[in-house]
Amino acid sequence: MELVERCFTLHEAKCISTIPISRWGCPDKQVWHFTSHGGYTVRSGYEVALNLRRNGELGRKAEGETSQGNQQQRIWKSIWGLPVPPKIRTFLWKCCRNVLAVKENLLHRGIDVDTTCTLCGREGESQVHLFFTCEFARLFWFASPLQLDPSLVVGEDFIRCWANLLSKYEQVEHYSEILQACAFGLWRIWKTRNGMVFEGQVTDPRDAVECFKNQVQEFRIARMCVKPFINELPRPPEAQAEPVTSWQKPPFGVLKVNCDATWMAQTGMGSVGWVVRDSYGWMVLAGGKGVLWGGSALAMEAEAIREALLVCVQGGLSKLEVESDSLQIIRMLCGKWKVGFAVEPIIFDIKRLVAQCQHCVFLFTPRLCNKAAHKVAAFVFRVGGIHTWDDLWPEWIFDTLASDVNLSIRL
Ligand SMILES: [Zn+2]
Repeated sequence: MELVERCFTLHEAKCISTIPISRWGCPDKQVWHFTSHGGYTVRSGYEVALNLRRNGELGRKAEGETSQGNQQQRIWKSIWGLPVPPKIRTFLWKCCRNVLAVKENLLHRGIDVDTTCTLCGREGESQVHLFFTCEFARLFWFASPLQLDPSLVVGEDFIRCWANLLSKYEQVEHYSEILQACAFGLWRIWKTRNGMVFEGQVTDPRDAVECFKNQVQEFRIARMCVKPFINELPRPPEAQAEPVTSWQKPPFGVLKVNCDATWMAQTGMGSVGWVVRDSYGWMVLAGGKGVLWGGSALAMEAEAIREALLVCVQGGLSKLEVESDSLQIIRMLCGKWKVGFAVEPIIFDIKRLVAQCQHCVFLFTPRLCNKAAHKVAAFVFRVGGIHTWDDLWPEWIFDTLASDVNLSIRL
């Protein structure tokens, strides 16, 4: 940016800074500057076509395209492909990102808590301790049908423990069933711990094992009956006949990503915000970025989708319904409108990110149903910087999330 400012006039530098840049080197092309789709028309027949020559910096490799990235991909795949209820998949994903609200994580986030483990009252309550090294966990795993000695899979952090579990059982027959049981087991420990923290309910490890066994059994039986339903892909956007007046939960197993942006024409500055929710309406993740330069409100709306998708893909979230209240951008993404050249590099990146998803559709939503993302964008615009929220929802968004869910319950 400094270089640009040195080489060009103030006005030119400002124009250049608003040109959206592709992360993965959207191919250069010549566009006709005087039409929004960049094609030459006789009517607009003036002189120069603007050559958008990008500098070498743009051909960079995407983040995470390393061998460590492959290992990560293997872990995310193992989680999102697990035959368990979506809430357990989300739970495991949180564990792997070390964002579960165990006491040591709370302390880390600046919340003043006594970190002593709830279940054993001895060591600090970290994720690794709670699920693998706590006396309760050891008894639980050993008494479970897995008869697992958790010290054999324990690692530095949760994600390594999970990777060790994958390696331990990889070659075994019924691999998927074993992992399914591990997931239900971890969930049971978490529920037991929460029962104790929030309700003072003391549970014997053997009772927790019984509860865990029943839950796995019930789930397996239910799944056999509704299997075709679970495998059903979400409906196409055209299927919505009724006008939508409130936020809608995504279909089972799919995450809904609401995106929004703010932009001030006077300053050319804006911000983006996004909120990810599951089929229960539970917020899984939210984030935003500001204050950003942008050439138009449209470019900023596209930017919001790109940022949201990037975070989702990097976090291994790959069954998505992406919603924006910009009809233009959604139509461009669905191939119904010609892509304007001013947003083309961003659209290019979005398509690249979509290719990394298992399932991703784009839906237009009225502003009324996009309030959560709007709030995030507005907040980020005010405070600036890069933000993400997961387990701990910011207070100012709580009402919107709750009312979104209540509305659809009443319908
Ligand atoms: Zn403990």
